[in-house]
Amino acid sequence: MITLALSKGRIFEETLPLLAAAGIEVLEDPEKTRKLILPTNQPDVRVVLVRATDVPTYVQHGGADLGVAGKDVLLEHGGEGLYQPLDLNIAKCRMSVAVREGFDYAAEVRQGTRLRVATKYTEVARQHFADKGVHVDLIKLYGSMELAPLTGLADAIVDLVSTGKTLVANKLVEVEHIMEISSRLVVNQAALKLKRDRLRPLIDAFASAIPA
Ligand code: ATP
Ligand code: MG
Repeated sequence: MITLALSKGRIFEETLPLLAAAGIEVLEDPEKTRKLILPTNQPDVRVVLVRATDVPTYVQHGGADLGVAGKDVLLEHGGEGLYQPLDLNIAKCRMSVAVREGFDYAAEVRQGTRLRVATKYTEVARQHFADKGVHVDLIKLYGSMELAPLTGLADAIVDLVSTGKTLVANKLVEVEHIMEISSRLVVNQAALKLKRDRLRPLIDAFASAIPA
């Protein structure tokens, strides 16, 4: 049996064409079923639905043989014990610093102000501000980061941005671009050895179908 860990939503949707290229069709719609294990048209392939942040954990510990996870999630997790053969170029966005309209971020940085930064991505944020030599107090959040500067919880946020509409709707502005984000294929290293005959062709099929 081959077990593939995916998160519901954009990663699931954008992985479907890659699965199709490998001849795999998921037989149930995660938005309609309450099942967490979905069968496919291949009797020896199943999909397990997990939280996006849990994908690396499932694959690392062998709860799944492979999975699809955002670079953001992998950087926070550390990617330990994971083979990352492919950038799938899906679920693309960027990681950015944003502040409240009217907050002069550049001036605060120039003056050496200690900034309060709220984010789900504390590892990436810690590294980014350390590289810039900016002193920060990081505030760990699990969602709705946009609210932090509006309520005075933080001066800035580090969050994922794609269209920027959420920032605009909340009167926030993007002031720094940290990195481009896309999703990667992650494979359990032991599974790659033990199930190589089944996994290698799958990885090759995914590779052939990566969107430009
Ligand atoms: P949850 O919604 O369960 O709290 P999540 O927000 O991490 O978790 P998704 O919103 O499905 O889950 O995001 C999954 C992955 O898709 C992220 O880890 C990131 O790599 C990518 N992603 C997140 N937001 C966007 C976006 N606005 N546009 C494109 N890709 C995104
Ligand atoms: Mg989300």
